Formats: sequence, C-alpha cells, structure tokens
Amino acid sequence: MTDRFNFDLKAKRIRLSDGDLIVALQAAAEALGKGYFTSPQYDGLAGKRPHSATIIDRFGSWKKALALIGITGGRERRHSPEQLIANLEAVWKQLEYPPGKRQIATLGEKISESPYRRHWGSVLSACEALAAFHEGKISREQLLAGNPDEPTRTTIPLKDRWAVLKRDNYRCVKCGASPSNDHAVELEVDHILPVARDGGNTLDNLQTLCRRCNQGKKDR
Ligand SMILES: [Zn+2]
Repeated sequence: MTDRFNFDLKAKRIRLSDGDLIVALQAAAEALGKGYFTSPQYDGLAGKRPHSATIIDRFGSWKKALALIGITGGRERRHSPEQLIANLEAVWKQLEYPPGKRQIATLGEKISESPYRRHWGSVLSACEALAAFHEGKISREQLLAGNPDEPTRTTIPLKDRWAVLKRDNYRCVKCGASPSNDHAVELEVDHILPVARDGGNTLDNLQTLCRRCNQGKKDR
C-alpha cells in the first residue's frame, strides 16, 4: 500500500486559532519547566506542534507571545541583591546623582528596573536604602534584604496570570485590543483594586489590560 498524496488545489490552509497557538505554548512551558524559553528550545521539543515562526508571525514577536502566557522578562539574567547594589553604586558614582529607571537601564550593567522593583519596590527605594546604609542607618543585611512586603504582594503567580488572560480571551477588557490583531499591543495583568489599597491577588481582583489602558489607569 502506498500513500498517494493528493495535489488538491482547493485544499485550504488550516489557520490555527490564537487559542491553539497559546495552548501549544503553555504545553511547551510545562514541558520545559518554569520561566523563559527560546524559540529554538520550543521547536526542539519532541512531538507535533505549530512552528515557532507561525507563533511569531501571529503575535509580533516571541517575547510578546510568551507574555500572553504570563512569561515575561525575556533573556533577563538573574541578578543577586549583591550584584544589583554593586551596579546601583557604580552607576550612582558615574552619574554623581541617584539613578532612575532610565539611567539604570542604560548605564553600568544595563539592568532593567524590574529586579530593583521586585526587591526594593522601585529604583528610588533601592537608592534610599543604599543611602541609608552608607549613612549607617541600616545594616548591609537590611539593605540586601530589600522590602519584601511590597513587591512580593504584587507578584501574580504564573498560573493565575494564565487563567486571567484566558478568561479575558487574551484581550484588553477596556478597549478590546489584542496582540493577534495589532502586534504593538502588549497585555498586562492588572489589579482592579490596587495592592496598596488592600486589593488581593484573587482572580476576581485581576483583569487583562493593554499597556496603554493600564498606564492610563495609573496616571489617573
Ligand atoms: Zn486597552
């Protein structure tokens, strides 16, 4: 018996839905373990799955596709609090004034503000802690311990981010923007009642917003 291929001119190209692609990404994330993975790592997995090129084409970039399943940060290296502080000191000395998020991202080791935000609440808070240490007001241990209360409470577990994005159909609940229609759209999971005002990490306090609507909300 031979398989006869049918060169059917009327055969339709199967267009996978956004949901199909996202399910494939989630399956890969589970297979590879937690956190960021590259498109070659994804394509290297055993089994049949949509090619990474299809996913990149649909969502604009690999990074944006991963953001849809709650994986952000890209190839960001993990920095220890010691490294973060050493970098902050170096950049501060170079500038001769306390760096903000833009300076920290472009000078020294070019570390984004996010690890500073996670550990101290913000780059400014990290600067305040560093100054307090040099003035002898806090110990080095206290400096490196950061402000664990603030940032950890704002961290939404990955599986909850997935659940919220899926529930909201991978669209901004305010304006309906979706990365599959517009590659410039970046979705974020937002606390409806802010953590600072005792809003929790429960699913009913979380919603999907595009970056623009989320920024608009923060500015108000
Ligand atoms: Zn929006």
